[in-house]
Amino acid sequence: MKILTPRKIGCCFGVNRAVKLTEEALSRGVPAYINGELVHNDTITRKLSERGLTEIKSIDEVKDGTLIIRAHGISPAERAKVDAKRIEIVDATCPIVRQAQVAAKKIEEEGYQVVIVGDKSHAEIKGILGHLKNEALVVSSPREIDPSKLRNKVGLIFQTTHSIELCREVVAEVMKVSHEIKIVNTICADIRKRQEDAVKLAQKTGLMIVVGSHHSSNTIKLKKLCQKYNDNTIQIERAKDLDPKRFKGIKSVGIIGGASTPDILIEEVKKRLKSISKK
Ligand code: SF4
Repeated sequence: MKILTPRKIGCCFGVNRAVKLTEEALSRGVPAYINGELVHNDTITRKLSERGLTEIKSIDEVKDGTLIIRAHGISPAERAKVDAKRIEIVDATCPIVRQAQVAAKKIEEEGYQVVIVGDKSHAEIKGILGHLKNEALVVSSPREIDPSKLRNKVGLIFQTTHSIELCREVVAEVMKVSHEIKIVNTICADIRKRQEDAVKLAQKTGLMIVVGSHHSSNTIKLKKLCQKYNDNTIQIERAKDLDPKRFKGIKSVGIIGGASTPDILIEEVKKRLKSISKK
């Protein structure tokens, strides 16, 4: 059985940076808190929690020590709240997410109605919305567009990890209604490359494996994208989730990982596949 992976796999730059900043904070020995998971990966979350990172539901809970701001970022109102506390702040907001926040603010200041293509409930989108004075439209697919809500002058930005195909489809729908359109392509380059690699692999392999947490937004999107090109696509979190029966008669397998899936998990999957292949 042939095992194919993209040349670059494993965590993206933003996740690696956030983990490094958090580990540095933990090594200082003071209590460290985070508002939710640092990144959506159970292996990383477990390791950081074992080293002393405490997950909190609201930043109001932090009274001392260090607060880690996660890679998805926060709104200026939340930032002002934490700045007012006498605590150390480690800002692990991914610089690419920060660019999306700045882009949304700028297009609003230029007089465009801001339309964000992404998941309303995602922390990154909540953070971006917090940077705006007016209400923005958030849609995750063209089906969610209500033409009566679109103005003539529309500025579009995208959740950094959203599906490129869905973003294109939304832009096409907006073009049917609005006359003056500005697009800032805020999809992260790492995600773009991962999605391209996923399509290439899904098209040429007998089975496609997407490795990553079931609650990781970018991993779920990779799975859906692969399924479009290869019905025989599965998503797993760990090598142990692989069922050897699935590989009967399969000649080639493609592996792709989400942006928060560490290299080590991909290596474990490859190792298990090699052993399945020998049987
Ligand atoms: S996927 Fe891109 S935007 Fe998201 S954390 Fe990684 S580098 Fe940053």
